[in-house]
Amino acid sequence: MHFQAPGSVVSYYQQVGRAGRGVDHADVVLLRGGEDRRIQDFFIEQAFPARERVRAVLDELETAGGEGRTTRELMGVVNLGMGRIEAMLKILDAEGAVRRSGNRWQAVPAGGWSYDADRYEQVTALRRAEQRAMANYGIDGRCLMRVLQEELDEPDPRDCGRCSVCAGPRFARPPSPVLVEIAQRHLRSRPLELEVRKMAPDEAGTMRKIPEDARTETGWALARPGDGGWWPAIERGLSAGWLDDEIVVALAEALRASETRADWVTSVPSAHLGGVCNELGERLAAELGVEYVALVERTEPRPPQREMANAVQQVANVRGAFAITTPPPPGTGVLLDDRRLSGWTLAMVGGQLRRAGAQAVVPVALSTLS
Ligand SMILES: [Zn+2]
Repeated sequence: MHFQAPGSVVSYYQQVGRAGRGVDHADVVLLRGGEDRRIQDFFIEQAFPARERVRAVLDELETAGGEGRTTRELMGVVNLGMGRIEAMLKILDAEGAVRRSGNRWQAVPAGGWSYDADRYEQVTALRRAEQRAMANYGIDGRCLMRVLQEELDEPDPRDCGRCSVCAGPRFARPPSPVLVEIAQRHLRSRPLELEVRKMAPDEAGTMRKIPEDARTETGWALARPGDGGWWPAIERGLSAGWLDDEIVVALAEALRASETRADWVTSVPSAHLGGVCNELGERLAAELGVEYVALVERTEPRPPQREMANAVQQVANVRGAFAITTPPPPGTGVLLDDRRLSGWTLAMVGGQLRRAGAQAVVPVALSTLS
């Protein structure tokens, strides 16, 4: 059974071929969704870095000369994830534009390297064609087996008479509502633990220890984006501008179940949600029977955190973006955010609250990506 479709019909064929090995009978099921395309897009788009990104890395390495740069240092220069920077450096290394010396990268002077846009475009066009063929698979009325045979250039493709196109769907019944309910209850029953951040990159990209007195406590989130537990209710609530009471109760329950102390609640002011998060903070405080205090303020507009591709950029985007307006009350505070992406906003604003005098800060988010 496939959950999400692979990027090409050929890959799919190779994968489902395994189902028939060593057994007399195998059923093959493909579960697909809208996210398939986004995941495939990600891999297609990240295969070759954009020209200006490559230029930025090469410029930086040329400036650095013999000293070179580490991958982490380059993360401060280009807004790409570490894996993508490493992939780029590997391509450049193979093509003779850079070389590796220990954990540092150097530009190869007068290496005669140029950005081969034509070749990158050709490969990308091929991947897009494969993606289109996969998207059409099973919905264009052609026998599933025949399509696989045609894609593999087999000499005599023919309708199989057994697949869901030839013989009609066999697994198309809706799931039992009782089972769906049990599954959702199960998924909702366990909040996600947010690990304490102990290291953070400085402005040059070097990882430094976060001092004890600027750390947050273990935090909690209710959902991961796209999950079948709390996520649908959270997504609905965020787009409607009002979160159901059951979400507020679940947040309070997560704190109680983990025996997390809470003496007050504050929230990260959301750039895109207006008052939803503050309001949620007030309701959570009421549910916990503690006071809500507005302590955090945005000092300047910044691009959304989701546009930051690596930790160095994420931290830089939060640094200086928030201020603590009044000293925190005594005791342990809950710091609430709506959607946690990298965790740096909660870690850094939590650190600012600690520095402003908070005894302990517990990060809490509706959803978390990592
Ligand atoms: Zn068929």
